[in-house]
Amino acid sequence: MLRLPSFTYLQPHTLREASAMKADAGPDGAYVAGGTDLYPNMKRRQQEPKVVISLMGIPELSGQAKRDTGYVIGSCVTLTHLAAGSPIRQAYSAVATAAELVSTPLLRNMGTLGGNLCLDTRCNYYDQTYEWRKAIDFCMKKDGHICWVAPSSPRCWAVSSSDVAPVAVALGAEFLLAGPQGERVVPAGRFYSNDGINYLTKQPDEMLVEVRLPAPDGWDAVYHKLRRRGSFDFPVLGVAAWVRWDGATVTDARIVLGGVASRPQEIPEAAQALRSTALTDEAIAAAADAAYRPAKPLDNTDFDLSWRKQMTRVYVTRALQELRQRRH
Ligand SMILES: Cc1cc2nc3c(=O)[nH]c(=O)nc-3n(C[C@H](O)[C@H](O)[C@H](O)COP(=O)(O)OP(=O)(O)OC[C@H]3O[C@@H](n4cnc5c(N)ncnc54)[C@H](O)[C@@H]3O)c2cc1C
Ligand code: SF4
Repeated sequence: MLRLPSFTYLQPHTLREASAMKADAGPDGAYVAGGTDLYPNMKRRQQEPKVVISLMGIPELSGQAKRDTGYVIGSCVTLTHLAAGSPIRQAYSAVATAAELVSTPLLRNMGTLGGNLCLDTRCNYYDQTYEWRKAIDFCMKKDGHICWVAPSSPRCWAVSSSDVAPVAVALGAEFLLAGPQGERVVPAGRFYSNDGINYLTKQPDEMLVEVRLPAPDGWDAVYHKLRRRGSFDFPVLGVAAWVRWDGATVTDARIVLGGVASRPQEIPEAAQALRSTALTDEAIAAAADAAYRPAKPLDNTDFDLSWRKQMTRVYVTRALQELRQRRH
């Protein structure tokens, strides 16, 4: 049985308190929300914080509210609430779908929106026990020097495996962050970096406070997920597709892929293929083709990688067909 190492557990009640605790702990401190990612990682010694600061007792992280500009969701709202809550299900069904497709009911009851958006990147050579990783002399992401996926690579290629992150980027969501330097708002697309180790652009001490979704004013979005076991597994490909309609014409679009890079990967060429079209079969085929080309999955998650790349075309097609169907 894998055991947690010993650590100090702190329970702040305000953002300011949490921020001060993190600053005191320095690099030895880590925030935790539902703990469904952090605690298994600590058991495998992938992360070894000495001080764990829970965000679950901070009231402003657990709220939801409709605003003129859209809808605001606190980072500690659970995935179960996201999937089941009627305002989100009605106006932001892609968010609800992505949340509902995460793992199992037990993990969704504990797992939060913020934890999902900050989820550690994944790799077959990293998501292993300490002893397994030690047997291969570790890897660059933790304790080692080499990348076993691309040994001559100077960087880590671990994969962004969050279901909700591609949707947040596709919707053009904004994230409110708070840290010792105060608060700031960043677009979801700029929250992620294409680096398996430093996969978030936020400062280590910053907390994700809330997610701001844009008002539902003529756009629609869907999320499709590829995985081996539909009841349980992480995505090996996620497709978030967003379009803005003017009558029967698409005036703007965003296609974002999860599971193919170290961050949710926006494909501008696919979006361009959809603009000023009525989502015809030809436009959908052109967008699917445009998404297929830059999608470069590596051999570090489940399934054969060339098949995963082929599936990009299939899943983008299905997502866009669903959007067209919803319009008519
Ligand atoms: C068996 C299994 C299957 C899974 N399947 C999926 C899946 O299919 N899809 C998927 O997307 N995920 C999956 N997960 C991962 C995880 O359960 C979810 O992503 C969940 O939403 C994580 O949320 P959490 O609150 O538990 O995160 P935590 O474990 O609490 O935190 C995760 C990371 O985010 C940081 N963090 C959390 N909240 C904040 C915040 N507000 N501000 C700053 N940093 C923060 C933590 O420091 C930590 O680094 C799976 C996990 C397991 C164990
Ligand atoms: S991509 Fe390379 S460095 Fe990153 S976790 Fe995998 S093996 Fe390690």
